Amino acid sequence: MKKYNKCSLCKGKVIEERVTVDYRWGGKFLAVLEDVPAGVCQNCGEEYYRAEVVKAMEKLAKSKKKSKAKIMVPIYSFKKVA
Ligand SMILES: [Zn+2]
Repeated sequence: MKKYNKCSLCKGKVIEERVTVDYRWGGKFLAVLEDVPAGVCQNCGEEYYRAEVVKAMEKLAKSKKKSKAKIMVPIYSFKKVA
């Protein structure tokens, strides 16, 4: 397991967990990535990704590899109800 620095927001303890990431690029929703290793602050929930993980996510999200499954999600503007 990798070591993470303390949370830069709250100084909480950051521990590596496997998270699901809604991967976006340039405002576009590209992919859902599962089992991504990320440091998660045990206090506030902020997630931290290592540089190599960020690179791997980018590669995976932009690859034309056959994905496990596809989902279609509706997009709502929250402004209209808030
Ligand atoms: Zn925190």
